[in-house]
Amino acid sequence: MLHVVDEPVKVRAPAKVNLHLAVGDLRDDGYHELATVFQALSLYDEVAVTRADALTVSVKGEGAREVPLDENNLVWRAAQLMAEKAGRSPRVHIAIRKGIPVAGGLAGGSADAAATLVALNTLWHLELSRSELSELAAELGSDVPFSLRGGTAMGIGRGEQLLPVLSRSTYHWVLAFAKGGLSTPAVYKELDRLRESGTPPRLGSADDLMHALTVGDPDALAPLLGNDLQAAAISLKPQLRRTLRAGKDAGALAAIVSGSGPTCAFLCRDAEDAVSVGVEVSATGVCRTVRTATGPVPGARVIETDSGP
Ligand code: ATP
Repeated sequence: MLHVVDEPVKVRAPAKVNLHLAVGDLRDDGYHELATVFQALSLYDEVAVTRADALTVSVKGEGAREVPLDENNLVWRAAQLMAEKAGRSPRVHIAIRKGIPVAGGLAGGSADAAATLVALNTLWHLELSRSELSELAAELGSDVPFSLRGGTAMGIGRGEQLLPVLSRSTYHWVLAFAKGGLSTPAVYKELDRLRESGTPPRLGSADDLMHALTVGDPDALAPLLGNDLQAAAISLKPQLRRTLRAGKDAGALAAIVSGSGPTCAFLCRDAEDAVSVGVEVSATGVCRTVRTATGPVPGARVIETDSGP
């Protein structure tokens, strides 16, 4: 049955933090083998899609000026892929409202791509299943399947193959946005360089962390958070050391670089602690701005659209 869809179709998609990011060796295809545990956070981008004469993209919000408006935008490629799958042309306007900082290690571009898949599935009445969407997501980028799914999940391979993780309770975070971003490929390259010239610490298995997640106690989780990319991100942006220290000094249970950085993520005991850590870190002037967020939250979801018979 055909459903009438109000336009625009609006989709909200979350940022992610890697609770555990173990980077293995470089593969022949140029990617590193990863074992990671993602958590989706309540910091969102919104994507609104409407029918148009041609494929166009506009961007507002956090870091909008740094985001490409052409085929280099992941949403452009997402629209082309969906159009190919649907056997039609991608004649839509995609309006992105960014809340997730660009090149921040929080998978903002991936969130937008996942949101576009969900929005076009609704706009074009495609009724693709979540697993079909997830296959398309994996073609777009390593983090896109997780942006679609949300929650807490383990990622293996390039991070695109997801396994469920049992996670209890809600965690409270403070995110410190840096001045400027870090290029993900540059951070991986720096890690390769550090590994050639020495032996930076490597994370072990995520078993203890997974166990702590089933218990749901932030005090138990905090010492188990880890990120192999942290040393490389700090090597490229040494001021991140001060940011991490500021979070710990302010009373956070743990301070880590998120993904490839430069956003730093501070795990806090509860919502009240998160507010006080945020205020204190902000006052030190070590970062551009701070936000509080909770996780896990669901992945890319339609908002504000009634589709009826
Ligand atoms: P990840 O943690 O997945 O590596 P990130 O959060 O560090 O990603 P993104 O914000 O996803 O980084 O963007 C990285 C680069 O991708 C940007 O510098 C930008 O040029 C390009 N880009 C393409 N599409 C988008 C988009 N929709 N939003 C933001 N950046 C985009």
